[in-house]
Amino acid sequence: MSEIKKIEEEIFNLKNKLKELRPRNGIVDNKKKCTKCFIIKDVSEFRKKDKTTIRADCAKCQDLRNAKYYKNNKEAKKILCECGLYVIGSYFKDHIKTKRCQKTILRAKEAKEKDEAEEK
Ligand SMILES: [Zn+2]
Ligand SMILES: [Zn+2]
Repeated sequence: MSEIKKIEEEIFNLKNKLKELRPRNGIVDNKKKCTKCFIIKDVSEFRKKDKTTIRADCAKCQDLRNAKYYKNNKEAKKILCECGLYVIGSYFKDHIKTKRCQKTILRAKEAKEKDEAEEK
């Protein structure tokens, strides 16, 4: 094999390797840097945007931002329940006892577990 061909093949192989190693979603070794707090965190600490991409900022920053937003908002007295509903603070204790809320949370939990099981 000529020297040129050999080098060309090497370059081809290296390019392929580079493609494999290049981080996706900015993930390196299952870790990712948050765009808000700039802390390198485990991928599990980031929420998913959809099935293949994860959010740029970590879950903690997202929660903080949401909390700040609602504090400065007219909705300040409303609490985001796990079931996805915003509930006025004074009703919250009663709300989480409702079947509707408990059912929704249970269903979401089951769906999440199913999702995780499928990923494995
Ligand atoms: Zn963060
Ligand atoms: Zn609820």
